[in-house]
Amino acid sequence: MRRVMLLGILLAAGSIAAVAAQQPPAATAGPRVIDIVKLKDALYVLTSSTPGNQATFSGGNVAVFITDDGVTLVDDKLAGWGQAVLDKVKSVTAKPITRIINTHTHGDHTGNNNFFGASVEIVAQENTKTNMMKMDAFKGENAQYLPTKTYSDKMTLGSGKDRIDLYYFGNGHTNGDTFVVFPALRVLHTGDMFAWKDGPLCDRNNGGSCVSFPRTLQKLIAQVKDIDTVIPGHSPMQTPKDLQDYQTFTSDLLSYSMEQVRTGRSVDDAAAGFKIDKYPGYKNERVKGAIQAVYDELKK
Ligand SMILES: [Zn+2]
Repeated sequence: MRRVMLLGILLAAGSIAAVAAQQPPAATAGPRVIDIVKLKDALYVLTSSTPGNQATFSGGNVAVFITDDGVTLVDDKLAGWGQAVLDKVKSVTAKPITRIINTHTHGDHTGNNNFFGASVEIVAQENTKTNMMKMDAFKGENAQYLPTKTYSDKMTLGSGKDRIDLYYFGNGHTNGDTFVVFPALRVLHTGDMFAWKDGPLCDRNNGGSCVSFPRTLQKLIAQVKDIDTVIPGHSPMQTPKDLQDYQTFTSDLLSYSMEQVRTGRSVDDAAAGFKIDKYPGYKNERVKGAIQAVYDELKK
């Protein structure tokens, strides 16, 4: 009898857990709070961008660049957060949003192109536009919110203090990652080519490559100078030294993974043997995924 009751309690607990799992995450249910950080008089960042924290995750870091002609956004967060983005922008300028740069295809960077509308100029690297065309969010009528201006290797928008330089240096997080530079302000937005201090995410379905990742970052560092502040994809502001350290980390991780492949070790064993302690402040939540990506890439 007692055993039957215990079983009943366990089943009830199990069904509560099942119901809880069906609830929408807090990010879609609760108030939509985005934090804003002032970097310069004409440049702000909309944060609250750490994936994994469902309560606050709104998508990647958004740069808000205020020019004479209007506001340029770099990325525009997850679908459903458009009004919260707009409210924050309005809290610092009365100018309209006239341009959005999508650093890459993912929905946490492109989710509100439709909210800001077809009258806004949308800019991306050409491979990113191709990737976006495969997304349900940009099919049918929503195709009007695809990038309207694309480039292959480099493009400059505006001039003088309003100048923005866009660079593509090769595969990494995807095959269309744009680095955005505000030369007058000495600020760089990396998108998810430097998302966090952890293993890189290489989205192979969108042409990403953990094998090319370090080389792509090396090209960036070699060619883009005169930067004081780095806006990463999903973490607090960084320095050029942090970026250089991240390039070294991704390069070390690639060499390590290739060596593990050569010696025939499993991905699990390779991940277990990687020494993250060498890299102060780094997490080990995505290292295994990055190693797996190298294994998959070398296999084909
Ligand atoms: Zn991404």
